[in-house]
Amino acid sequence: MAGVYLSYPFCSQKCNYCNFRSGVFARELERRYVEALCTEVRSYAWPWTPETLYLGGGSPCRMEAKTLARLLALVPGCPWLEATLEAAPGSVTLEKAKQWREMGINRVSLGVQSFVAAELAQTGRKHTAELVAREVELLRRAGIENLNVDLIAGLPGQTAASWSESLDWIARLGVPHVSVYMLEIDEDSRLGREVLRGGARYGAHEMPDEEAVVAFYETAVERLGTLGLRRYEISNFARPGFESRHNLKYWRLEPYVGFGADAHSFDGRTRRRNAEHPAEYVARIEGGLSPCVEESPAVPEEERYYVGLRLLEGVRPDAGGRRRFQAVIRRFSEAGLLEDDGERLRLTPRGILLSNEIFQEFIGA
Ligand code: SF4
Repeated sequence: MAGVYLSYPFCSQKCNYCNFRSGVFARELERRYVEALCTEVRSYAWPWTPETLYLGGGSPCRMEAKTLARLLALVPGCPWLEATLEAAPGSVTLEKAKQWREMGINRVSLGVQSFVAAELAQTGRKHTAELVAREVELLRRAGIENLNVDLIAGLPGQTAASWSESLDWIARLGVPHVSVYMLEIDEDSRLGREVLRGGARYGAHEMPDEEAVVAFYETAVERLGTLGLRRYEISNFARPGFESRHNLKYWRLEPYVGFGADAHSFDGRTRRRNAEHPAEYVARIEGGLSPCVEESPAVPEEERYYVGLRLLEGVRPDAGGRRRFQAVIRRFSEAGLLEDDGERLRLTPRGILLSNEIFQEFIGA
């Protein structure tokens, strides 16, 4: 069964490390965006009833309860098997959490990134570890137990000791799902631009080196494993039964439809992408145009490798795939980066660390 993604790229502040298309925009644009989003969802002819729903892209926790309820009422399938809302720490109250629960939200993903004050100060985030603990408690009191915490490995000033401190907080909070992302350095974030130009703002001169970041990741795999949080995807760890059903659809190439700015859709044959900037998205909808600006045929026979191999369950190649990728599979298996039991292919722990290089080889091979 398919999933639905709703993009809400509005945030209270722009975090220094963030390379998403989200940000702080005028209130008036935010108001028009909600209307445009409702228009897009309303006009969709549902070929299936959604099983999962994901509200992300920025800070959908900012939406007023009645606005969010109005939007969700347009999506069939409530109560969804899994309905996730991304929330920035500092945005959760007991009243809000109860309202979210009542409208079908049963999973909250908290963009914590770090529990360490000095690291948070560099990112532009204003929360504290204690505040996150309070909000986790409020969400649980409201009946939302399925909680994810996002962490970033590689933040400015991060050390083995500070990384351990964040992992200690994960143990203390007992959340059933954690995502660990490696900080991406590119032109799309303030911090990335500063690092690339050799500057010192946002802690750009205090970046841990690549070796240290790999060590943070490996420590996380080990620590989270001892907490019963099994790595089921390169960046995702969960207690059994708490794996993100929505995100699994992306990696298993199941269909999903995305609404809103920069939202992507996949129906099994075609991939579509909406206009990236919220102002462009709103203008297209208000002008009676389709918000979709890019459409390309999917290549499932390749994608199932470089997307599916992200999962620890791996992929099951068919006879055609085995023939086509024979040389690549043999080379990486012999190098100890891929495990091939004759039925499934999986990345080995060493292969996970070199996953991007491996995925490249499955593209157009
Ligand atoms: S990290 Fe999250 S809260 Fe911060 S700017 Fe990006 S989307 Fe918004």
